[in-house]
Amino acid sequence: MTINTEIVLVHDGRALLGEGPIWDVRQGVLYWVDILGHALHLFDPVTGQDRAINVGQPVGTVAPRTAGGVMLALRDGFASLDLETEELRLICDPEAHLPDNRFNDGKCDPAGRFWAGTMRLAEDRTGAGSLYCLDRDLTVRKMWSKVTVSNGIAWSLDATTMYYIDTPTCAVVAFDYDLATAAIANPRPVISTPDGPGRPDGMTIDAEGMLWVAYWDGWSVVRWDPRDGRELARIAVPAARTTACWFGGPDLGDLYITSARAGLSETALAGQPHAGALFRARPGVRGLPAFEFGG
Ligand code: CA
Repeated sequence: MTINTEIVLVHDGRALLGEGPIWDVRQGVLYWVDILGHALHLFDPVTGQDRAINVGQPVGTVAPRTAGGVMLALRDGFASLDLETEELRLICDPEAHLPDNRFNDGKCDPAGRFWAGTMRLAEDRTGAGSLYCLDRDLTVRKMWSKVTVSNGIAWSLDATTMYYIDTPTCAVVAFDYDLATAAIANPRPVISTPDGPGRPDGMTIDAEGMLWVAYWDGWSVVRWDPRDGRELARIAVPAARTTACWFGGPDLGDLYITSARAGLSETALAGQPHAGALFRARPGVRGLPAFEFGG
């Protein structure tokens, strides 16, 4: 079912690789990143202003931090960023021995740990990445390996399941999740889309426990029921490289969607002039407040 919801262009930022939208309920701003533009962005829907902070290297994702500021997963590891002084502090780099890798997508779990995964920059990248968990005491653990393009991650409403996307698998995999220890076990695909649309990229979960997945080269965001793998709704996006989505706004009913220009030819870009923009839809479902990093 395609939802005939109006999709609005909210910020024509022409990001190379817009990603990682996440709503800060306290600040009332949407954080998002331009991975290849080396920038964290703060979009304020009330003023329409978008503030960019150059972090000097690829930035895979952002998460709000309870202690203030945000956490980032950078090319060179986990970091914190003070949003007032713009001071960046590197915390740890679990892949200091792998200079061809960078961090990609990630999110915090309901216990306030920051999960993020890596990918190799070279074409030959199969299985070269891993998924890491940064605990509140700033120690890091490798949780899963042989990942190719670590992407969307979300937890079920009861926190007993972790959903995860390694993009080339064309699947959302569910793991049993132990919130007390962060242990993951028993991976099994719950949504399989080998025939498209596009490749699964970023993901979020709504207040009804349904998953929203953005499709790279798929011009869409799709809502899925992870219990039976059924497609529930589809939103058409005017950018082929739809990368990620998150619910924000005062009632958490605004679905923000990021997109990319990277890798598209001049001809392709002529057909999607707003590629790299931030879009918004009102699909009639609400999201959840983002979990923050508790360390
Ligand atoms: Ca991504």
